[in-house]
Order: sequence, then structure tokens, then C-alpha cells
Amino acid sequence: MPQTIIFDDALAGLLAQEQPSQEQLVCLLGATGGDLIAAADRVRQQHVGDAVWLRGLIEFSSYCHHNCCYCGLRSGNKKAGRYRLSPAEILAAVQQVVAAGLGTVVLQSGEDAWWTTARLVELVQEIKKQYPQLAITLSVGERSYADYAALRQAGADRYLLRFETSNPELYAKLHPGTTLAQRLDCLYHLQQLGYEVGSGCLVGLPGQTLADLANDLLLIRRLRLPMVGIGPFIPHPETPLAGATAGDVPLTLKMLALTRLLLPASNIPVTTALATLDGGGRQNGWHAGANVVMPNATPSVYWQQYELYPDKAQLGDSLQYSLATLVEQITAAGRYVGQGPGSALARKEYNHAEHTAQ
Ligand code: SF4
Repeated sequence: MPQTIIFDDALAGLLAQEQPSQEQLVCLLGATGGDLIAAADRVRQQHVGDAVWLRGLIEFSSYCHHNCCYCGLRSGNKKAGRYRLSPAEILAAVQQVVAAGLGTVVLQSGEDAWWTTARLVELVQEIKKQYPQLAITLSVGERSYADYAALRQAGADRYLLRFETSNPELYAKLHPGTTLAQRLDCLYHLQQLGYEVGSGCLVGLPGQTLADLANDLLLIRRLRLPMVGIGPFIPHPETPLAGATAGDVPLTLKMLALTRLLLPASNIPVTTALATLDGGGRQNGWHAGANVVMPNATPSVYWQQYELYPDKAQLGDSLQYSLATLVEQITAAGRYVGQGPGSALARKEYNHAEHTAQ
């Protein structure tokens, strides 16, 4: 069958919310992308409207005992600057997020043993006590079911944990000592506990194929993720992948667009990695189906040290300055800033009964 017919059929199927095949997704990923991106933009408008939601991101520890091959924070990188915010510093940063009018705070760190679940529970409880309306998203890696349960009980609303790649061999190669099965178990546990779960993948990992990316999309659909983060791989000079080529921006935008078509009511951020590779990355992401952005609310003295990849795009040298720039960019894109926590699970398309582990 000619490629154009496969493309048209595949796109029509997605718009009708039919389950795509891996072959159809590979075809869509391999095409030029204009029609796909326009379709995703329309679907985004119909299902989640024109709001762009802002999440205040606090990167509270750059210590990590893992050694992921693509990450500048890997334990093997002895040149990485390490810092750990105290609970008081984190609470001060949360206060800035609330004062700026944001409805969600994202607490992210490497897998840092100092931040035991007991310490995190105390922190989450304190934030909820001070700001009951604020949605709390955690992104602190793999923990046990009991740990996730304790954090949920303490008041955490959402959890971000990317699966990075659905190819188990590639996953094992990039994540020494861990497996994809382990990561997926964590995601199922988080879903069972009623978190609003975010996951997603990297685009352009060395050895990754279009078929792998199609499988990533099928996994995203199967998990019915209310939040999906997809960003391009960027090589870090102090990692084993230092000499590899960065992920492709147009391909990343097609992955965002396909995610929007597969899960119309999800929250999809534009990643800082996309903005790092492409000066217009945020705006291009919003036009490809994205509806979220996460300005950095970490005290700016630490920004350089949270180096997952080099030359991270920054919007300004403070949260306030970044927000002013973002509001300008959002308005120029014909969109507006969403108010409140902006939960995907609150949308009628998300039937929570279906949103469980298989
Ligand atoms: S990707 Fe996450 S878990 Fe892996 S080394 Fe980096 S911070 Fe640690």
C-alpha cells in the first residue's frame, strides 16, 4: 500500500480513537509531520482548551545513587556539583510558588538516600498543612509500594516517573542494575494508590528505532497516563554517551502530537530539553499538542548544578522573571495561563475506574 494511504488511514484511525498498530505509528513518525501536528493542535483545543498550566519545579537534591548512562547526575560523574536543599529551603521555595499564583509544585530530585520516605512524608504533610489547595507532584524515583502509600497518605497528589524506553534490552543497557519490569511495577503501584501518574520517554537514545518509539506510544496509551513527558535525549560530556548525537527536534514534536491524539485529555508538558535544542521549542511544543510548562522554582544559585544535560535552557535568573517571559510566550502563542491545579483526572474524559493497572 502506498505510504500516503497508510498515513491517511492511520491519522483517520487515531482521530476516531481507534487502537493504532505499531506499523501505523512508525509510518506517522516517519512522515513530515505538518498534518499530524495540525491535527494534534485541534484535538488539544477540543479536549483541554487553550490553557497552558504552569507547575513550579523545585529540584531539591542533585545527589543520586543510580548511574543512568544518559544523565549528568549519575553517581559515576565525579565532576557533578552536588547540593541538597534543607526542608526550610524547600518550604521557602514552595512559598514563592504559591505567591506567584501557581497551583502545583513539583518536587524533584535524584534518588538521594538522605531523603528517606519518613523525611519526605514530613515535608509533604507540612506543605499540605500550609497550602491545602496546592497540588503536590513528587518525582523522586523508584520506591517501595509501602513508601508510595505513605507519601500518598501524607498528601502527595501526583507522581512523575518516566519509563524512558519501552525496549527492555535498551532500558537495561542504559540503567545499570535495574530493569524495565521494575520501573513498570512502580508505575502500576502508583496508579493503584490513586496518584495522578506521569510517565514518558526519551527520543533519540543511541540504538533506539522508530519501532521502539511506536512501542513507547503504545505503552503510553495502554497505561492511560494523565500526564506524559517526552523530551529529546541530549548527550552529557561526563557520561558514557558523551559522543552520541542528540535527539531530533521534529521527531520529538511528532511524538508529542501522537501522544495528544492517543490521549486527548492528558496533560503534556513541553520539556526544558526541547527548549534547549530548539529556541522556539516551547511554542512549537504548544502547537504540537502540549499544554503544560514547568518553570524552575529552585533557588537560582543551584540551577547550574542540577545538570541532567548541559546548557539547559533557562527563562530568566529567577522564578518571577521566568514567569514574566513565559506569560509573554503563552500569550503570543494565542493561549492563556491556566488557574488552579489543572488536574487531568478532573476532566470528564478520564474515567478513574479505567485508570488502573492492568
Ligand atoms: S536519570 Fe534520575 S535516577 Fe538516573 S542518574 Fe539521573 S537523576 Fe539518577
